[in-house]
Amino acid sequence: MLSRFGQLLTETEQVTHAIIITDHNVRDPHANAIDAAVVQAGIKTDLIEVKPGETSKSVEVATSLWNQLLDLGTDRRSVVVAVGGGVVGDLAGFIAASFARGINLFQVPTTLLAQVDSSVGGKVGINLPEAKNIVGAFWQPRAVLIDTGVLLTLPLREYRAGLAEVVKYGVILDADFFEFLESRIKQLNDRDHETLAEVVARCCQLKAEVVAADERELTGRRAVLNFGHTFCHALETVCGYGELLHGEGVSIGMLCAARLAIATGRIGPDVISRLDHLLKALQLPRQVPEVDHDDLITAMQHDKKVQHGRLRFVLPTRIGHVELVDNVKTSDVRQALLDSSSGP
Ligand code: NAD
Repeated sequence: MLSRFGQLLTETEQVTHAIIITDHNVRDPHANAIDAAVVQAGIKTDLIEVKPGETSKSVEVATSLWNQLLDLGTDRRSVVVAVGGGVVGDLAGFIAASFARGINLFQVPTTLLAQVDSSVGGKVGINLPEAKNIVGAFWQPRAVLIDTGVLLTLPLREYRAGLAEVVKYGVILDADFFEFLESRIKQLNDRDHETLAEVVARCCQLKAEVVAADERELTGRRAVLNFGHTFCHALETVCGYGELLHGEGVSIGMLCAARLAIATGRIGPDVISRLDHLLKALQLPRQVPEVDHDDLITAMQHDKKVQHGRLRFVLPTRIGHVELVDNVKTSDVRQALLDSSSGP
C-alpha cells in the first residue's frame, strides 16, 4: 500500500510539495517508502524526523517544526504527511492545523493504536508539561492510508497495547465484532495479515461513525470511545508516564469499569468473564498495579471528563453497548480497584 501513496495524493489534491514528518524508528523503511512514492508521482518532498516518544509532543518541538516549514517554503499548496504512531500523528497533525492557518494533512499510521484510533477522527495536539493533549485542534485528514504490513516491525509490547483498543470497540459498539475477536486469538497473536486488515477496517468504520455523529464531543456520543479511560488516565498519572503503555492502561481500565458496572447493577459476571478471557488470551495486563488507591481517586477527580466535581464513567450494559454514568459512588470505584478476580 505504501508504494501507492503518490497516486492517492495526486488523486486527492493538486499538490506541489509534501512535508513528511516521521520519527527515527519509522523513517527506515516506512517513511522512506512514502517519500519514494511521492517523488515518483512528481511531487517535491522534504522529510523531517523527530525524536520517538511522547516528549516530542511539546511546544518546543512544534516551534522547531513551524520554523522548518517556513524555511522549506511551505505554502497552502503544500501538504503535511504524518508517517508514524499516535505521537507523530498528533504532532504533525497539529502543525498542519496551525501552520499558515491550516494546510492539508494526510495520515499514514504505523502503530496498531494509530491505525485503529488516533489517525481517524481529527483530534490533533501537543502536551503542556502539566497537561496532556491540552493544546490542539480538530483537523480532519484528507485521507488516511493504512498498510497493516508496517505492523510487522512494531515492537510486540506496542502491538499488544494496540489490541486493547481493538477489544474496546467490541465492548462499546459491536457484539459481533467482539465474538469475531474471540474466534481469532491465534491469528491476532500471530499478526495475521488478513485478520488484521479486517480488524483495522472494522475499527476505523466504528470510530468514523461515532465521530461523524459527534465530531467535537458535544453530545456525549463521542465519549463512548473513552471506555476504560477514566481508570487508565489515573493509572498513567500515578504510575508515571512511560511505565504503562496507554493500551495496557486501557486493558486494566476496561476491567475496572466492568467491575464498576457489576457493582452498579448494569451487567452480570458473564460479561467481565468474557472480557477478562479475551484480554488474557491477547496477553494484556489485567491487574491494577500496586499503587495508592487514594492517589488514583484524586487523579480521576482531575480528569478532563469530571463534570461539576462528579466522577464520570463509560460503563457497559452488555457486550456491544455502553452508557455514560456520572452518579457513581466513590466507594464503588474503590471496590472496582480492589477486586482482582483475574489471575495472572
Ligand atoms: P508512539 O507514536 O509513541 O509509537 C510507539 C513506538 O513505536 C515509538 O517508539 C515509535 O517510534 C515506534 N513505532 C511506530 N511505528 C512503528 C513501526 N511500524 N515499526 C517500529 N516501530 C514503530 O505511540 P502510539 O501508541 O502509536 O501513540 C500514542 C499517542 O497517541 C499518545 O500521544 C496519545 O495521546 C495519542 N492518541 C491520540 C488519539 C487521537 O485521537 N488523536 C487517540 C489515542 C491516542
